[in-house]
Amino acid sequence: MTVSVVLFTSDLRVNDHPPLRAAVDAAHEVVPLFVRDPAVDRAGFAAPNRLAFLADCLADLDAGLGERGGRLVVRAGDTVAEVCGAVRQADADEVHMAASHSAFARTREARLRRALESDGRRLYVHDAVTTVVPPGDVTPQGSDHFAVFTPYLRRWVSTPLRTPLAAPRKVVVPPGLRSEPLPERASVAGVSEGLATGGETEGRRRLGAWLSRHADTYEQIHDDLAGDATSRLSPYLHFGAVSATEAVHRARARGGAGAEAFVRQLCWRDFHQQVLAARPEAAAEDYRPRHDQWRRGDDAEADLTAWREGRTGYPVVDAAMRQLAHEGWMHNRGRLLAASFLTKTLYVDWREGARHFLALLVDGDIANNQLNWQWVAGTGTDSRPQRVLNPVLQGKRYDPQGAYVRRWVPELATLTGPLIHEPWRLKGSDRAAYDYPDPIVDLADGLNRFRRARGRD
Ligand code: FAD
Repeated sequence: MTVSVVLFTSDLRVNDHPPLRAAVDAAHEVVPLFVRDPAVDRAGFAAPNRLAFLADCLADLDAGLGERGGRLVVRAGDTVAEVCGAVRQADADEVHMAASHSAFARTREARLRRALESDGRRLYVHDAVTTVVPPGDVTPQGSDHFAVFTPYLRRWVSTPLRTPLAAPRKVVVPPGLRSEPLPERASVAGVSEGLATGGETEGRRRLGAWLSRHADTYEQIHDDLAGDATSRLSPYLHFGAVSATEAVHRARARGGAGAEAFVRQLCWRDFHQQVLAARPEAAAEDYRPRHDQWRRGDDAEADLTAWREGRTGYPVVDAAMRQLAHEGWMHNRGRLLAASFLTKTLYVDWREGARHFLALLVDGDIANNQLNWQWVAGTGTDSRPQRVLNPVLQGKRYDPQGAYVRRWVPELATLTGPLIHEPWRLKGSDRAAYDYPDPIVDLADGLNRFRRARGRD
């Protein structure tokens, strides 16, 4: 009787899962293993919203394996020690897992390979499981990664993709293996009230529903804050409950400009992964240093607090920050506006904003979060690093009826028309009727400060 182990990490699904398929094909019995590793938490994963979503994903993965006759084996501890322990108990010959590209994941993989090989077992690492195109597969001449998105996109779209795999029909797990209980969502404290339900079943349902309902108009509506018609697949992609490769195939099969625009967004995900894989230090250091002397001290701290709490006095920024607190998720246009406001209008270090986002975002991801923050702050890959988003103009453009602001800023719920984006213009008793803060900064002052700091008047 041969046995193989499949180690699940950021790929919590049974459909289109190359390591699971390879493990099933290689042996009579398979140990589907997930390790709750405290080192992953220490590396920044352990935020309540992500822990709760993870619990949903693991329960659903266990159910998906159960439908095929198997179950998920959960262990807690150091990944390498736990995998080696499970391998010995089940007398497995090989371990299959997905390639991950963070510095943390690569160190873990190298340790695991050494430990398994010294015990006469083999580790198979499968590419294109968490990304569509693996980092390093497309590179420009003379460099190990693309630093600009458009040329990357050109190469990425013409890269042949693997065909998505169906879930295995049967998963036979050796009897008698010890498993920790599955973590429970209800036992996680501090979870955002409106957090989505995790798991492959829900992710696949959303993908199907979104493709049929919104894909055709995605190009026109993806920036409409109140319309809220983007796919909301980011947490499912982050946890690998939905395969990005399968999402690309299904969008392309649907065809049309909207589906192509959606595929382009998925390319951004791979783009950031390949930047971080080549420059792991960009998680904390400026990718393109601009010699910023970010504001520090009490005033900056007070501004940062107002920003975090959604009390800046700029309704669309506050709406976005309150959506984040309530749902553990924020619309992309909201993320752009909130990040530009913090880094450019308030001139507060992007790391402060990225830390707050990571504490709350259910899709919070080192590559996408840190590099998007750097993109907005002008220290990253944006070819127009000086661009500043004006929250009033952006509000009027992307929330023209004010519906997004009314949804998230109840103090302004009775205000209609464009004034909702600049309530400070109301006079006398009209103004007094709204219990909403005055702007914490004058936009022109903020802009001038930023231009002076970056050496442009
Ligand atoms: P859709 O518009 O439906 O796009 C489909 C998918 O494409 C998304 O699910 C996502 O996986 C990917 N995608 C879309 N835009 C981007 C982008 N700019 N960069 C990378 N991938 C993208 N995304 C994360 O997944 N995790 C993060 O931690 C994260 N932090 C961000 C921080 C800032 C400051 C900014 C400006 C953006 C951040 N993004 C992050 C990117 C983007 O905002 C989200 O992926 C998107 O809003 C998720 O919503 P959706 O699934 O409806 O996206």
